[in-house]
Amino acid sequence: MQEYKLFIDGEWTNSSIKDTFDDIDPATLETIATIQVAGRDDIDRAVESALKGFKVWSETPPPKRADVIYKAADILTKRKEELARLMTKEMGKVLDETRGDVQEAIDIAIYAAGEGRRMFGETTTSELRDKFCMTILRPIGVIGMITPWNFPMAIPAWKIMPALVAGNSIVIKPATDTPLLTIKLVEILMEAGLPPGVINILFGPGQIVGQSIVHHPDIKAISFTGSLETGKWIMSECGKSMKRVSLELGGKNPLIVMDDADLELALEGVLWGAFGTTGQRCTATSRVILHKDIKDEFTNMLVEMTEKLKLGNGLLPETDVGPVINKSQLDMIKGYIDIGKDEGAKLLTGGNVADIDLPGYFFESTIFTDVKPDMRIAQEEIFGPVLSLITVSDIDEAIEVANNTRYGLSSAIYTENITDAFKAIKKIDSGITYVNAPTIGAEVHLPFGGVKGTGNGFREAGLEAIREFTEVKAVYIDYSGRLQKAQIDQ
Ligand code: NAP
Repeated sequence: MQEYKLFIDGEWTNSSIKDTFDDIDPATLETIATIQVAGRDDIDRAVESALKGFKVWSETPPPKRADVIYKAADILTKRKEELARLMTKEMGKVLDETRGDVQEAIDIAIYAAGEGRRMFGETTTSELRDKFCMTILRPIGVIGMITPWNFPMAIPAWKIMPALVAGNSIVIKPATDTPLLTIKLVEILMEAGLPPGVINILFGPGQIVGQSIVHHPDIKAISFTGSLETGKWIMSECGKSMKRVSLELGGKNPLIVMDDADLELALEGVLWGAFGTTGQRCTATSRVILHKDIKDEFTNMLVEMTEKLKLGNGLLPETDVGPVINKSQLDMIKGYIDIGKDEGAKLLTGGNVADIDLPGYFFESTIFTDVKPDMRIAQEEIFGPVLSLITVSDIDEAIEVANNTRYGLSSAIYTENITDAFKAIKKIDSGITYVNAPTIGAEVHLPFGGVKGTGNGFREAGLEAIREFTEVKAVYIDYSGRLQKAQIDQ
């Protein structure tokens, strides 16, 4: 069994404490690796190393930083299949999806590397004569990154690649359930020529190691993806020390099916949106808002197809849906089934721990109907294969229901009516709206993130990712040779 150490100052190094945890395959419950837990001293060592790394890397011209990232993209591309298989073993989702996860890392690497030769500021006019004005982007310093388990490579890569091209150094703590793909990503970046110290990895419980990263005075910004509860805590702690923080949190994503929708297309979208990644995506479709005129027909179609989804080991080609990540997640999903029944929703299919030939954490793909918008199963993020169907009478009611949530990440509408489509685009409070496509499927050159309880105004991916990891400086160059006073000289 391989034991992984911490990665500090360009080397795999033993933790200062003798504590480890097991990395478990959620389908077979086999232990696939052992991981060392970081102690207090290791956190300080990692930050010291990142401060040294920052000095070197921030002085490296952005196109040269980009060369390293392009090379990493090449290595990732060559190793895509092997990494996808490892991810399926560690996290459980099916191979097609883990290939997609690695591809997202490749895409963001190529996109971010492209910024190495752009990194544009602005030039503009001055109100005074013989004066030139511009903005430049500067790196922030050491960035602390804390990531969840559902996109074990894509999410770390979405943070790491733009932060690196912008000249920052990094201390990252991946989720305890999925450390291996961050390890692989860092190995690949080092092979591609990243100098020692620029990236450092710590492992261990969020409550200890994550909190220490948040509190470390030399970490200048935190980039966090995870739950609303943890995000709120991090934001309040960062507020105390005026630390910059970007948050990508949960979702309770609605998908509207109008009476004129192509129902076959919507059906495929709902199945993929709700049960892909076993419902464990921040953008998962968790509420389907059905127009009353197609409710019965669509519900029958959906239940029939949902019951055909095959649960199993994500490594097998016949598997449609893999396990959920761990026992506590399985128990939480079970708990929500009871909550839904108690609230008066009607269970149409699923609702049980799946009885299949594997010891892992499998839960049946589940659909509730007659769900009222205020029920807990329609309000709280379940993060599992549980879908709520809500019936409405028209587009205005559909949008009202869609917006009746504390989250605002993704949303979708299936309709052939351009007016309804544009109403949804304009009025749904979310960071992303899809028309005639499900709530999942973000591409790396567009901004990703949400409103309300989903985040704090930052976006990842796209050009916004560069903004997340840079500070902007305004520069005024006066070549008049005399004192000129803005707002005073006329
Ligand atoms: P989580 O419990 O908040 O954990 C996320 C990360 O934070 C993990 O690395 C965790 O460490 C760490 N952590 C936990 N408590 C912490 C604390 N007090 N201080 C610092 N770090 C702490 O979330 P999760 O259950 O792993 O992930 C699922 C959530 O992520 C869902 O809400 C989902 O919607 C959200 N998500 C959002 C996006 C997005 O882009 N909007 C994308 C994916 C997932 P441990 O692993 O050791 O607990």
